[in-house]
Amino acid sequence: MTSLPLISVDPDARGRRPAMPPRHLADLDLPGRQALVAELGEPAFRAKQVSNHYFGRLVRDPAQMTDLPAATRERLAGTLLPTLLNPVREMACDDGATRKALWRLHDGSLVESVLMGYPDRVTVCISSQAGCGMACPFCATGQAGLTRNLSTAEIVDQAVYLAGVAASGAVAGSPPRLSHVVFMGMGEPLANYARVVAAIRRLVAPAPEGLGLSQRHITVSTVGLVPAIRRLASEDLSVTLALSLHAPDDELRDELVPVNQRWKVSEVLDAAWDYADTTGRRVSIEYAMIKDVNDQPWRADLLGRLLAGKLAHVNLIPLNPTPGSRWDASPKPVEREFVRRLRDAGVSTTVRDTRGREIDGACGQLAAAEDRDSDPRAATA
Ligand code: SAH
Repeated sequence: MTSLPLISVDPDARGRRPAMPPRHLADLDLPGRQALVAELGEPAFRAKQVSNHYFGRLVRDPAQMTDLPAATRERLAGTLLPTLLNPVREMACDDGATRKALWRLHDGSLVESVLMGYPDRVTVCISSQAGCGMACPFCATGQAGLTRNLSTAEIVDQAVYLAGVAASGAVAGSPPRLSHVVFMGMGEPLANYARVVAAIRRLVAPAPEGLGLSQRHITVSTVGLVPAIRRLASEDLSVTLALSLHAPDDELRDELVPVNQRWKVSEVLDAAWDYADTTGRRVSIEYAMIKDVNDQPWRADLLGRLLAGKLAHVNLIPLNPTPGSRWDASPKPVEREFVRRLRDAGVSTTVRDTRGREIDGACGQLAAAEDRDSDPRAATA
């Protein structure tokens, strides 16, 4: 892995190996699960049965796995489905259409996931690391630093768990089936590359091997780790790439997205266009609108020139408040002018909704603090 002058990209390479969780079936592909079951002295087809409960039926309670012999049910489920995510709290807003789940992992680390129900789809936003080492100054997760990478199964289990919440009918006015997954929770997914790619493979494999989502409905968001973007393009996956750009010029981006000190705007955009060419997927350019920092008309024009004619779409994100931040969101008229200039340059542009703000579940607000137990907005304990 790469090492940065300012930021440690790979927590595994810091000498102290963080304690990873127990192995879970979602860490393995189907042949791997069959080999594990065989090691337990059970027939290989049991791997498919347990996988079908977990990915196909979204069931994890051994008592409900009545097609398994009662004598081996606990042992099989205990080995293949150890508990990875202990729910600490679930909070809801938007009449239950947005839900934030806080989990405690086996080593005490805290991570969060967010479920968002829309009339036509259900999206979950999942975390790939406990904390984040990228140090973007406007992001709450970036302020806390990196604790460790999540395992493949810890990543997948967030989506499977919340798919179960959607299937229970808890998200009124939305379809019961999880359809979209965005890697926009805590962490930098491409800094945990192998586990994230394995997690994507589980999410898209048809049941019982995986959750059976469409590749096109999965989005990986990155600060712009250029070698990893190029590597992702070479996988036979065509997931959507989102690039957190936030500034069109190196001087400002060096500050807002410190990894820019290593890979400059032109390099990261080149990698993004190569990704678009290889996969045929339009790249999503993420740009948080920060008052008097990156929202000037000239920056809109410069961004427009960089993106014109490319397979790109701009997602402007009104800056979400984070504790202690010295920055504010751009005023609406400034935002509208920014949109107008980008569109005049021929660049497709939308402004993202600020779902989950009241529960600190919106972009950049995930910090996994557990000091809000008395918060009246907590839906469950
Ligand atoms: N590390 C990856 C994945 C996190 S995605 C990445 O940065 O792309 C979270 C998105 O929310 C990123 O685009 C991030 O830049 C953006 N974001 C972070 N803090 C924000 C804030 N306070 N307001 C709005 N967007 C924010």
